[in-house]
Amino acid sequence: MTERKQLEVDVLVVGQGLAGTLLTHFLLQAGQSVHVIDDDYPRAATKVAAGIINPVTGRRYVKSWYIDRLLPTAEATYQQLEKQLGIIIYHPQKVLRALFNQREENDWLVRAYDPSYQAYIQTGEKIDIGDYSRYAIPALSYGEVRGGAQVDIGELIGRYRAYLRSTGMISTETFNFQELHIEQNAIDYRGIKAKTIAFCEGAKAKNNPYFSDLPYEGNKGEALIVKITKADFQKILKQGIFIVPLTNGQYWVGSTSNNYHTDDRPTEEGRNYLVGKLSELLTTNFEIIEHRAAIRPTIKDRRPLIGRHPEHPQLYIFNGLGTKGTSLGPYWADQLVKVLTEGHIPDPAADISRFRPRTGK
Ligand SMILES: Cc1cc2nc3c(=O)[nH]c(=O)nc-3n(C[C@H](O)[C@H](O)[C@H](O)COP(=O)(O)OP(=O)(O)OC[C@H]3O[C@@H](n4cnc5c(N)ncnc54)[C@H](O)[C@@H]3O)c2cc1C
Repeated sequence: MTERKQLEVDVLVVGQGLAGTLLTHFLLQAGQSVHVIDDDYPRAATKVAAGIINPVTGRRYVKSWYIDRLLPTAEATYQQLEKQLGIIIYHPQKVLRALFNQREENDWLVRAYDPSYQAYIQTGEKIDIGDYSRYAIPALSYGEVRGGAQVDIGELIGRYRAYLRSTGMISTETFNFQELHIEQNAIDYRGIKAKTIAFCEGAKAKNNPYFSDLPYEGNKGEALIVKITKADFQKILKQGIFIVPLTNGQYWVGSTSNNYHTDDRPTEEGRNYLVGKLSELLTTNFEIIEHRAAIRPTIKDRRPLIGRHPEHPQLYIFNGLGTKGTSLGPYWADQLVKVLTEGHIPDPAADISRFRPRTGK
């Protein structure tokens, strides 16, 4: 590692997955000077994810937590980043939801006629399942969720990294806690002086000595990138597994979910599970292009983590994006920047003080 020149910034951001990228974006917009440290880890969750925003989820078809306020911020933020970086990453998408029996159909209809779901659930019209009618084993029927999207978050962080490199705002290295010096109103890290340091380390936050007491779980997920030559699926399908259209006849297929993992590598078991599910579902051939795995940064109560260290007010955290980083990330990054720059009180629903007593300044 080469010694860098002395640097003075407002905020040093550690981690440049989706959380660190969005935080940096909002900080720069707020006029802060930023430097980022990230190790460019190949199995970061953001590089493995499908980037689905699905407003209605779960077995009971409930609206995702806070979704009405998350969606407008997500759409505006990703579109702004598209403009800034000259890329297309935000794809509005409908999600087809397979309904397997009468009970599921009834539950779906109950939601469909609930006025608070009207923005998201289609009623009345016939649902067009496109090529799935030719190349997939049919479910009993299908519901359709609208208002969702697929966001190429892996592409986003790659292009944002290139932008940060071109402006000298990122160092590719592993952050070493032994070299962090906490001063009166600042921090010093290997020649970088910052008023604040914000940790956005994803699942690796478990190793952060300043925030290690938070209830991280970490959920391992595996996914496949496949080529399906014959079919031209246009919509996202949730039928046991997810099939997510990408470009060039490729699809993201996933995923597994494992809270009891020992590492973050792709496994034979994960691959067999996904191949089995996809073979049961499709009536046409597919070719595996890639097999990916990563740990989702999940927290015990499934809520994000934003906030300030109780004894060291220069230290902040942004984590806990869990299984829904694409929708949660923009809103909570914006909230944290308002805490940092405008003195806002963090929303108690995401504030880390829900797990520890609030002390300090
Ligand atoms: C299989 C799978 C499918 C998913 N699908 C979806 C989906 O469809 N929709 C959705 O919304 N979400 C999905 N997710 C979840 C989503 O990926 C996460 O919510 C989000 O990407 C988390 O971003 P993050 O920045 O917190 O973490 P990460 O992406 O892991 O980024 C953290 C970065 O910080 C770096 N870092 C950590 N510690 C250090 C250190 N000491 N020094 C230097 N660098 C460090 C890491 O190496 C990494 O580069 C999925 C996840 C998986 C695994």
